[in-house]
Amino acid sequence: MCENCTTFRKGLFAHRLLIETGVDGLYGRGGVFEDVIHRFDNLITSFGGADGAEVVRFPPGMNRALFEKSGYLKSFPNLAGTIHAFNGNDKDHAALLEKLFAGEDWTYGQEATDIVLAPAACYPLYPTVAQLGALPEDGRLYDLQSYCFRREPSQDPARQQFFRMREYVRIGSPEQVTEFRQTWLDRGRELIAKLGVPFDVDVANDPFFGRAGRMLANNQRDQKLKFELLVPIESTEKPTACLSFNYHQDHFGTLWGISQHDGETAHTACVGFGMERVALALFKHHGFEVEKWPSPVRKALWG
Ligand code: AMP
Ligand code: ZN
Repeated sequence: MCENCTTFRKGLFAHRLLIETGVDGLYGRGGVFEDVIHRFDNLITSFGGADGAEVVRFPPGMNRALFEKSGYLKSFPNLAGTIHAFNGNDKDHAALLEKLFAGEDWTYGQEATDIVLAPAACYPLYPTVAQLGALPEDGRLYDLQSYCFRREPSQDPARQQFFRMREYVRIGSPEQVTEFRQTWLDRGRELIAKLGVPFDVDVANDPFFGRAGRMLANNQRDQKLKFELLVPIESTEKPTACLSFNYHQDHFGTLWGISQHDGETAHTACVGFGMERVALALFKHHGFEVEKWPSPVRKALWG
């Protein structure tokens, strides 16, 4: 190990894989890091590409009114990020600059815009699917990728505030979406096995906020609605979720009014790949120099 790599995080900075910005969880990415992400993205497509998903890409912001309706603030008020902006006149501008130069809080006058930051790649999707009318008989399948925001600053490089999530989202009958989830549970294992990192798949829950959240989390676990594929990155005792497999039942179908071809409420499921986390798992287990990674791993990514 080189002298600057006393911790995994420091090693990532020293090798210009991640670039420090002064904010925990907000990093630049170096070319080699991006190349690994790109190769992993292609590996995902090699598993899911033949399913014929419609490719949709949203920017990392979403319609605030739709976000309010989504219920995210009920469950995760602490993770949400909103976009506020200056909306004043010359006088307000002068006041802002005065505060700024005095080192005082200049942000109090910022007003909410109609955009918030997307907390997951699939959140902006559901309302747009509802607009298309009832589902065709075989439901719908989407391929998404977006930068997502969650306000969880941390020194753990695998817990970022801006990170990318690739997702496949299935919308259809309960049978269609549970079969989709099972397929991806199997594919996810196969895919990560190719990368030569240790992993485990386990039942999980989302980090619902507050006392009411504990009940939601227990319910989610009892019903096995969420599974995660975990890889040890920062700690071996607490491995990191790199892939998630979520079954939302009819939650989003009811919320957004999405119906199946027969008029029943649609069920939804998604598989989410934490792109940075998988890249970090590779650097953690195979080292900072991609040229030295085991040849089966190099073959899986670079062909
Ligand atoms: P979730 O919607 O919480 O299941 O997240 C989907 C995937 O995004 C997870 O399996 C992680 O791989 C990834 N992810 C979630 N939160 C973060 C974070 N703070 N930093 C990096 N990746 C994350
Ligand atoms: Zn999702």
